[in-house]
Amino acid sequence: MDKINGEKVKNPLTLLPIMPAKVDEDTCIACGVCVDACPVDAITLDDKAKVDADTCTECGACVDECPVDAISL
Ligand code: SF4
Ligand code: SF4
Repeated sequence: MDKINGEKVKNPLTLLPIMPAKVDEDTCIACGVCVDACPVDAITLDDKAKVDADTCTECGACVDECPVDAISL
């Protein structure tokens, strides 16, 4: 077990907050490309794309594929 500042931690990476992908609804054109690009099916499409924060692994695939740069991490 590692120590940081004398405190025992299991894995420092687990202390980092999860920052799921975010959709700019004003920019999204509901093309569905991100839905197909997401490897964990975290995105659904209604009138705009929506990211399930609990499922998103922050892989960035949707950010790379969106044709109008509507998704960011
Ligand atoms: S960052 Fe990756 S896991 Fe998260 S919604 Fe985009 S494609 Fe899916
Ligand atoms: S790829 Fe971009 S424009 Fe297309 S549905 Fe996803 S967020 Fe919207």
